[in-house]
Amino acid sequence: MKPTPKSKTIARALLAWFDAERRPMPWRETRDPYRIWVSEIMLQQTQVKTVIPYYQRWIASFPTVEKLARARENTVLKHWEGLGYYSRARNLHRAAKEVVREHDGRVPDTLDGILSLPGIGRYTAGAVLSIAYNQPVPVLDGNVKRVVSRLFGLMENGATRKSETRLWEHAGSLLPATRPGDFNQSLMELGATVCLPQNPMCLLCPIAKHCEAFKQGEPERYPPPKQQPETKKIEVSAAIIQKEGKVFIQQRPRDGLMGGLWEFPGGKREKKENPEDCLIREIQEELGVTVAIREKLMTLKHAYTRFRVTLHAFTCDIESGRLRPTHCERWRWVRHRDLDKYTFPAANVKIVKHLKENGSS
Ligand code: SF4
Repeated sequence: MKPTPKSKTIARALLAWFDAERRPMPWRETRDPYRIWVSEIMLQQTQVKTVIPYYQRWIASFPTVEKLARARENTVLKHWEGLGYYSRARNLHRAAKEVVREHDGRVPDTLDGILSLPGIGRYTAGAVLSIAYNQPVPVLDGNVKRVVSRLFGLMENGATRKSETRLWEHAGSLLPATRPGDFNQSLMELGATVCLPQNPMCLLCPIAKHCEAFKQGEPERYPPPKQQPETKKIEVSAAIIQKEGKVFIQQRPRDGLMGGLWEFPGGKREKKENPEDCLIREIQEELGVTVAIREKLMTLKHAYTRFRVTLHAFTCDIESGRLRPTHCERWRWVRHRDLDKYTFPAANVKIVKHLKENGSS
C-alpha cells in the first residue's frame, strides 16, 4: 500500500508528538545497529523499565558484536538470567558469531541479510533497518498492531497469517520516506503510553482526528481479542543434595527447553504421587541414587509461558547408589558462594538466593 496524503499527515503528527514526548532510553541514544538489535530482542515481551539495567550490563560487558561473539556461552546466559526465554540470548550469541564470521563484524543492512541471522524475525529486522540504517521498513509489534487496528478500524489481531499480512500492509502504508526509524518508534511509543489496551487516552492522542475507532466511540473494541492458550498447572520437586559443604547442580541439555542452564535435579509429579515420593523417584531415574530427604526447604510458585508451576525444594543426602547422572549435559558439586557463577532458571534462582542467605549446608 502506498502512502496517501492522509498517511503523510498522520506521519507528520506522530513525528512531532514523538519529538516532544519520547521517553529517554539508553538505546535511543545510539544508531549502532548491534545495540539496537540487543535492545529489541530484550524488549520482546518485557517492559522497558525491566530491560534498562539488563541492557546496560550487557553493553558494559559486550560493547561490540565482536566482544559478544568471543564471550563464553555461560557468561552470555548469566547476563540474561531473569529475563527468561533463554533461546533469545543463545540466538543473539550465535548470530553475533555469524556476523563476525560472514559479514566482517558488520550487522547486515539488507532485509535478506539480517533475516538470515538466528533469532531475527521480521519485526526485529524492521526495527534495526529503520532505526540504525534509516531504511523505510515497517515494524509490527503488539503495540503497533493495536494502534494500526484502531486507526484504520480493522477487526484484525494478527492471529492468522492473513490478518498479520493486512496489519503489516497498513503499517507500511503509513511509513514516511524520511525518518522511518523515528516514525516506527513513535508508533510503538504511542501504543505503549497513549493507545493503551484498556482506557486509551484518546484526548491526548496526536492522531485522534484520523482514528476510525475513536470516531466510532469504542476504541477498545479494536483489535478483537485473541484466543488465549490454556494455562497448565504442574507440580515439580527439586533436590538440594548436599555433601561436604557443596551442593549438586546439573546443566540442562543444550537443545531442549532452557537448554544450557544449570538447575537442581528433580522433575514433575505424577498422578497420585506426593512431592516427596516424586523427588525420590526422579532422583533415582536421573542420577541413579537413592536420597534421604532431610527437610523441606521451600515451596514456590512461578509462571513461564503457559505453565503455572509449583516447585517443592527439599534438602537431602545420598543414601545409597553410585552417582550416574544421565539427563544432563554436565554436573558439578559447588560451594554455595560459587553458585552465582552459574546461570539458573528463575525458580532455581530463588533457591540459590535462599541457600546463600541462610547459609544452609
Ligand atoms: S485516538 Fe485513541 S484509539 Fe485512536 S490511535 Fe489514538 S489513542 Fe488509539
